[in-house]
Amino acid sequence: MSDDRQALKQLGVQYSLDVLPAQDIKAVPQALEKLPRTVMERYCALPYDICGGVLCVAMSDPADLYACEDIRQIAGMQIEIHLCEREYILRSIQICCDGADFRPISNRREVTANEDAAIEIVDSLISCGYDEHASDIHIEPFEEHTLVRMRIDGLVGDYRTFPKELHAKLIARIKILADLDIAEHRLPQDGNITTQANGNRISLRVSVVPTVYGEKAVLRYLTTSCEIDDVQTFGMSGDNYKKLTKILSSHSGMVYFTGPTGSGKTTTLYMILEMLSALPVNICTIEDPVERRIARVNQTEVNNAAGIGFANGLRALLRQDPDIIMIGETRDTQTAEISVRAAITGHLVLSTLHTTDAASAVVRLRDMGIAPYLAANALSGIVAQRLLRKVCPECSQEVPPTAEEREIIGHDSRYIRRGKGCPHCKFTGYKGRIAIHEVLYIDKTLRRMISDGESTDALHDYAVRQQGMKPLKAFAAELVNRGVTTPDELIRASLF
Ligand SMILES: [Zn+2]
Repeated sequence: MSDDRQALKQLGVQYSLDVLPAQDIKAVPQALEKLPRTVMERYCALPYDICGGVLCVAMSDPADLYACEDIRQIAGMQIEIHLCEREYILRSIQICCDGADFRPISNRREVTANEDAAIEIVDSLISCGYDEHASDIHIEPFEEHTLVRMRIDGLVGDYRTFPKELHAKLIARIKILADLDIAEHRLPQDGNITTQANGNRISLRVSVVPTVYGEKAVLRYLTTSCEIDDVQTFGMSGDNYKKLTKILSSHSGMVYFTGPTGSGKTTTLYMILEMLSALPVNICTIEDPVERRIARVNQTEVNNAAGIGFANGLRALLRQDPDIIMIGETRDTQTAEISVRAAITGHLVLSTLHTTDAASAVVRLRDMGIAPYLAANALSGIVAQRLLRKVCPECSQEVPPTAEEREIIGHDSRYIRRGKGCPHCKFTGYKGRIAIHEVLYIDKTLRRMISDGESTDALHDYAVRQQGMKPLKAFAAELVNRGVTTPDELIRASLF
């Protein structure tokens, strides 16, 4: 018998409690619905059955009287404790809750398909998402049920399911909050919600789109509880921050922020705009959509229905006496051309491009039809970025890397760190994210090289050798070796 089992038996005798078999626990839905998952995980307690009006709860620590009382009150019924090993309870909570078709949102009463429930659910989702540092909430209709998923640390994960009957009520509630037409079900609609949760003012952007099973809503947090370390330096290393400050200080020229979707480049751009907004200058933006509002910055949104695109919007902004212009994304030749010309004529122009590293942005401009001499004259810097999930500090452990992983990190390190999963990280093994950057400063030599049409590799190599630029890959591999992130994250961020 294991030591844990032995200790548990002793506890059972001491408190006159039953000890469950050492195996995963099967819970009936009626019992499971009595407690929210957060409470189960907080107290490591699984309600698994109801017998004669009493809720049977598996726990590993019967001495935690506060937990017992809290569970009794939340469940709204008498409870009976049964002992089991902590690891079995935690795993069973995960298995039961992830597999359940319905999980409770309301603690003390059953959720019924009425407006009150919809109001409570939407409020609760918004504040839970905020607490979990989610960036988006997806409310998705399916044939059998409504699925709520949240994007946390860049990945979309299942959060809850609700009965199908509730779906229309949830969408109606969201439409009311966002001031949308609740009678319109066939056309996409956009709006904003401003609300409060736990004393924080929260702004969300709402998009509702019809799908085959009904309307789907996505709520994006515009005021996220910022998770980036060292906000003053935009989450950048000292060297990179110094280089970027130098690039921005010229107050003219083109600066591109590059990376795939979800690399955090827009967040960085907003942090920079916020800093620049303190200067005595006129800042204009054209964005699709405006994700965050910034004081003293004139933000314009692309509106295809009204005929405002990036290119003509940008042309209009240039007649607004701007010093600094931000273009949400450079997608087409026309936009690239106007922004490059604006940069040459003494404006500081900031924008994003979808390229994997800094040097590739030069070739992307060339592919878009921008003459090399124009690009060379306009560019003052390029920043490439990625966000990597950090290993959960609560459950991280040293593990030897596999041969493939060793190849990725390019070192013969004996150990890497990996989270084995715990309630703190929702059994993902990761908690929070870290930004990594690669900053290319366009100096005289690079200007000549770009003008001469030299290759991406040549530009990259020059920056590494002569400017001491640390490539994203090297930066990321270093973080793996320091146990901050894992080789899987490097693959996910398309660094290998
Ligand atoms: Zn963990």
